[in-house]
Order: sequence, then C-alpha cells, then structure tokens
Amino acid sequence: MFILFFGTRPGKKKEATLPGAACPYCGQAGQLRATLIPQFVHLFWIPVFRLRPTAYVECGHCKKAYAEDDLTTEMRRGLDGLASP
Ligand SMILES: [Zn+2]
Repeated sequence: MFILFFGTRPGKKKEATLPGAACPYCGQAGQLRATLIPQFVHLFWIPVFRLRPTAYVECGHCKKAYAEDDLTTEMRRGLDGLASP
C-alpha cells in the first residue's frame, strides 16, 4: 500500500519555440519547439523534492525529436530559459 502514497509525478509542462535555433536535421530555422516537464517526488501527494526535469526538443518541420543527449547548445539554452522561473 505504501507505494500508492509515494512516487514521482510530472509538474506543469512548459513549452517554447526557439526562434533563433535551426534544426540540425532539416536545417529549418524557427521550427524547433522545446518542452520541459518538471518531475517531483511526492509523499502523500505533497511534492517533497524536484528531480531532473524531462526535456526534449521537437522540430515542427521534419517532426524529428531530440532527446537530452542530442541537444545542441542553442536548444539547451532555450530549455535553460524554460527551467528558470
Ligand atoms: Zn527539422
């Protein structure tokens, strides 16, 4: 039963387009969309601490998605902007 009251859950999703960044795959600029989903560890539905957020970038032109390991410096900068309040 204890497992029901302790676990992780996502926070509020944040999204932003990265106007200055070009997609490394198709080369289109201004098509990249960064998504950041904070992850919280909760205990009895109260968030007790923050985990590393789930972050990815998707290209609106070629639909290619970039996971954290594939991010360019520009993408990372855009995600950093999302992570700060
Ligand atoms: Zn693309």
